[in-house]
Amino acid sequence: MHDAPAACRSCGGELNLVMADLGRLPLANGLVAPARLATPAPRHPLRAMVCEGCWLVQLDRDLPAETMFADYLYFSSYSESWLAHAKRHAETMIRRLSLGPQSRVVEIASNDGYLLRNFVEAGIPCLGIEPAANVAAVAMQAGVPTMVAWFGAELAATLAATSGQADLIVANNVLAHVPDPHDFIAGVARLLAQGGVWTVEFPHLARLLAESQFDTIYHEHVCYFSLLALEPLLARHGLEVSDVEELPTHGGSLRLHVRHAGRGPASPAVDALRAAEREAGLGAPDIYRAFPARIARILGDLVAFVQGVKARGERIAAYGAAAKGATLLDSAGLSVRDIAFVADRSPHKQGLCYPGSGLPILPPEEIARTRPDWVLILPWNLAEEISAELGFIGAWGGRFLRAVPELKVWAPA
Ligand SMILES: [Zn+2]
Repeated sequence: MHDAPAACRSCGGELNLVMADLGRLPLANGLVAPARLATPAPRHPLRAMVCEGCWLVQLDRDLPAETMFADYLYFSSYSESWLAHAKRHAETMIRRLSLGPQSRVVEIASNDGYLLRNFVEAGIPCLGIEPAANVAAVAMQAGVPTMVAWFGAELAATLAATSGQADLIVANNVLAHVPDPHDFIAGVARLLAQGGVWTVEFPHLARLLAESQFDTIYHEHVCYFSLLALEPLLARHGLEVSDVEELPTHGGSLRLHVRHAGRGPASPAVDALRAAEREAGLGAPDIYRAFPARIARILGDLVAFVQGVKARGERIAAYGAAAKGATLLDSAGLSVRDIAFVADRSPHKQGLCYPGSGLPILPPEEIARTRPDWVLILPWNLAEEISAELGFIGAWGGRFLRAVPELKVWAPA
């Protein structure tokens, strides 16, 4: 590709610094029916660039939104740890903001109602906004008011005019997926009541860098945020960060509490995190420049291990058909010839296949039935939960393996 540098989605600067170039990959969430494997899935360049003006890491091109949400298969409620995380957050915010029957809560990308159900149970009026119709339908069946729509400045203006502003807006793991963060944040600023709080969660770029989590780069994940990169973007829309929490979810996330600007001092945690990010080098090019070599090493180690497994006549299966697994396998060039299948608890994924590598997605019972020598845990963020669940592989001497942040093997406890 010799096209002109893309412009930064935040400040408009030129994007010239490559943090990760994973080649041309199929959409990581675009699971396909086995019959469709005969036709190779369309591949698109996947490249993360760094803006040296504002340090926002971002993909340098967009895909049409319809491509990505046509068959959306991620249902939040299939992870117990994520459900517990959502419940705790709801309870904390109800207490912290004294939310009650007069309040209003809006969640953007509310998925299957995994979070809002807690507000429904507490009798607090709420609305979910979810672009994937099949996922929104599940929420509505569960009694969570949900609108099938894309969130942006226009929808926010309509909602504010018709049903009023929100005391709490929640956006978990959606901001990073939005091609135009300005439109999204302008919408939040419009919908948020004067004394209201927006809590926004996203995987923390500092953790991605520190732990080589390059497999969290995929086409749907457009921006990779640090506090450093997000603050100027918020300021452009009259918003500021009042507090920050570091969370273990998705390999290390930030939860920012955002409010209208000029409402008093922020928590000391905000200054501390800003300083820590500078200290870690997020405001200079070196850390980004060094990243491609780390990706190459992880991929090389994984491929060598899998070749060794095959050479010894052992068998390997994968677990957890998350998007990051598709990215890992596709960028390593591994396929169903190397790894028999990927097991996953979600019945919505079972029976389908990863689009590039072609691994069939089967119920977890297949692990017990086929007794593989190795189980490659793809969602490394859930490795503990998964290896506890699959402890039974020890009965036939099975062992676990993960590739990120570096190759690690271990026996069940
Ligand atoms: Zn920029």
